[in-house]
Amino acid sequence: MPELPEVETIKRSLQKAIVGKKIVDIEVRKAKIFQGDTKEVIGKTIEKVERRGKILIIQLSGGKNLLVHFKLTGQMVWAPREGESVAVGHPIPFAGTKLPAKTTHVIFEIDDPPSHKASARQSGKLFYNDLRQFGWIKVVESSKLKVQSEVAKLGVEPFDKEFTVDYLTQVFSKTSRPIKLILMDQEKIAGVGNIYANDALFEAGILPAKPAKKLRNFEIEKLRKAVIKVLEDGLKFGGSSAADEAYIKPSGEKGEYQEHFRVYQRDGEKCRKCDGVIRRINLGGRGTFWCPKCQR
Ligand SMILES: [Zn+2]
Repeated sequence: MPELPEVETIKRSLQKAIVGKKIVDIEVRKAKIFQGDTKEVIGKTIEKVERRGKILIIQLSGGKNLLVHFKLTGQMVWAPREGESVAVGHPIPFAGTKLPAKTTHVIFEIDDPPSHKASARQSGKLFYNDLRQFGWIKVVESSKLKVQSEVAKLGVEPFDKEFTVDYLTQVFSKTSRPIKLILMDQEKIAGVGNIYANDALFEAGILPAKPAKKLRNFEIEKLRKAVIKVLEDGLKFGGSSAADEAYIKPSGEKGEYQEHFRVYQRDGEKCRKCDGVIRRINLGGRGTFWCPKCQR
């Protein structure tokens, strides 16, 4: 599932590609994915592309927003139009080289207004693909965004100044649940999922199953820094496209963080810090990876 670095990579790419342009049509091929009235969105200008946790927020003129949650296999591919054809370039996992594919469920027709310089104008299509179909796109009014939407319930952003040792101490002290599950609780910390929780705990030298309230102050400080470090790495490498995952950038290219996984999906392989071997267990139903020598 795309986590903070992946959605942030998508956000930055779409900012460059579609801000200032207009949605002139929307084709919904799978009704359950697009939740809202397309008429409220067609004709609106894209003012900003934002992110909160793992949710992408496309801000439109007229006080409307499109919230996008990619869930397990959602993809957004920007295909600029060259003449009459739409160029995709790379083969897209679960979609192939031609879009729309069987996995394409929503298509946005995006027009660059004629007021832009003719040479720089770039209209095109934004394709939402989703093999497993757990993702969704919702139309939400700006006035409801922070009080009555999926975004309203989200916890602190790891890159914000509110992500402090004090905040984490307060959260961790209230629960004996494994620390890894707390890191992944979106209502506490927004954007950290299975990949980066595993890698952050390795970076901090903490066992994933350790009860949250047992963490000592120095461990919380290490963990706070580790979360930021692994998310920054994820972002630096354009997110991670592991073999079993569908994440791609809007350009259709893969991210590269999977080549730098610390422990995630590395069970049976050598630890990057010692001569130990990475092990795997299930914790809360998710694959959990750690080094028995480096993590306590
Ligand atoms: Zn180790």
